[in-house]
Amino acid sequence: MIRSFLAVAAVVLAVVLLLTSSGARPKATGDSLARAAVAAAASPANAYAAVPVGVALTRTGRGFWVAEANGDVIPEGDAVFYGDPASVNLAGPITSIVATPSGHGYWLLEGNGGVFSYGDAHFYSSAAAAGGLEPNQPTLDMVSTATGNGYWLVSRDGGVWSFGGAAFHGSARPLHPPSAIVGMAATPGGGYWEVARNGGIYSFGAAFHGSAGPLDPKTPIVGMAATPDGGGYWEVERNGGIYSFGDAVFHGSAATAPLPAPAIGVVSTANGGGYWVVLANGTVRSFGNATPLPSAGLVSSAFSLVGEIITVDPGHNGGNRYDPSYINQLVWNGREYETCDTTGTETAAGYTEAAFNFDVGTRLATILRSFGASVVMTRTNNTGVGPCVNVRAAIGNNAGSDADLFIHADGGPPGGRGFTVLLPVADGPNDGVIGSSLQLGLDVRSEFGPGTGEPVSDYYGVDGLQPRDDLGGLNLTTVPKILIECANMTNPTDAALTENPAWRQLAASSLERGLSLFLTGVA
Ligand SMILES: [Zn+2]
Repeated sequence: MIRSFLAVAAVVLAVVLLLTSSGARPKATGDSLARAAVAAAASPANAYAAVPVGVALTRTGRGFWVAEANGDVIPEGDAVFYGDPASVNLAGPITSIVATPSGHGYWLLEGNGGVFSYGDAHFYSSAAAAGGLEPNQPTLDMVSTATGNGYWLVSRDGGVWSFGGAAFHGSARPLHPPSAIVGMAATPGGGYWEVARNGGIYSFGAAFHGSAGPLDPKTPIVGMAATPDGGGYWEVERNGGIYSFGDAVFHGSAATAPLPAPAIGVVSTANGGGYWVVLANGTVRSFGNATPLPSAGLVSSAFSLVGEIITVDPGHNGGNRYDPSYINQLVWNGREYETCDTTGTETAAGYTEAAFNFDVGTRLATILRSFGASVVMTRTNNTGVGPCVNVRAAIGNNAGSDADLFIHADGGPPGGRGFTVLLPVADGPNDGVIGSSLQLGLDVRSEFGPGTGEPVSDYYGVDGLQPRDDLGGLNLTTVPKILIECANMTNPTDAALTENPAWRQLAASSLERGLSLFLTGVA
């Protein structure tokens, strides 16, 4: 209810801004912005960073609006600024922007289902007001009816909300899609499709014309667009690849050369004779009769993590040492029995690993959330006991995590230092995620060293990697998961680093870059 009120208030604010604003907005000068600085520069009004999440084209095709997770709307070309919720204390990241059919306004979608309306866009209610969102399943896309007299919202798990003149024809949610829903498109007649990361298309009141699913896309599908007559659609892949179905014509793809940023969507031209592929740095690539548009001033150095579910698992817990009977209970770890948890190590000065793990994990969660990710923590303080390693794995599994990071520091030989990535070994439960976990480990390794200055371990593993088949957290995972020993707390050099909050911040931002590299293909 609060969100719908805010959205109405935003309309009023938009009118005020229309009367007072010149339409100009400051632009990010991206190249000079380090990724960590982007996260640190989250909007003063909310927790989200200035990372592009969507682009809407003007009716002329000679301009576009870029929406950012923090609510900024940045007009390019002939796009007019009608207002934005950047000064609102958002309840979730902004996830999408949709222009009205006239081009004289736009809606912004918030991850918690809220809708903000500007210009001639009408507010018809929102999923935040209607209810029904599941935890960690944000609303990711929104489509207007052909006349703009209503709209549909779709959530990551396939739920659909329809408002105004938009009719409800069903949703993919009851089908429990095995792959996250990332977008939707509608026909002029009021039917619609949902598209999943694996390329699958779900049709409701609209004809099915085929899907990219059987073609086994190399990278995830990130969005779709319908032709103006609703007789077909395009799917776009993260690497810029385009798949055409029905009367949608293939006019080329952005996948022929490496992109500077992952693709995040596709937009049809007014007559369907071309399309723009939208990139995560807020620029577009033009195909067919789509007007070539300059990159303009907006090039973000950091990319949105909207729609990604990440479990952050800070190892041990501050209370473990006081409850040996609890942490010494035996739990099945997928291969053998193992103790529930352990106390962890500490530095010579008494700074505990549990405190280090929790501090880095908390810093990491803040950065990930600022980029729009849904973050699940296996523990939310450093004063409790456990949870046991099998429960930690279950938390990440049950959340349907796209990645799960088990954060530790080592208690190795005092003469050795460095970090090590521990990798799962196939044992049955984790068989499906051995390859993806290895990739996650390689991506984290490639970012953690350069980002923190920490060398790979000189006493453990090979080149910073060590397979382990005796850890419940890795044996029982059904989602990509690794364990990182960030440093050796018994080594004086490494101990000083772990005791330094500035280094822990570097560790967190480096882990975020590794996760982003894994999840988006770009660090
Ligand atoms: Zn540990």
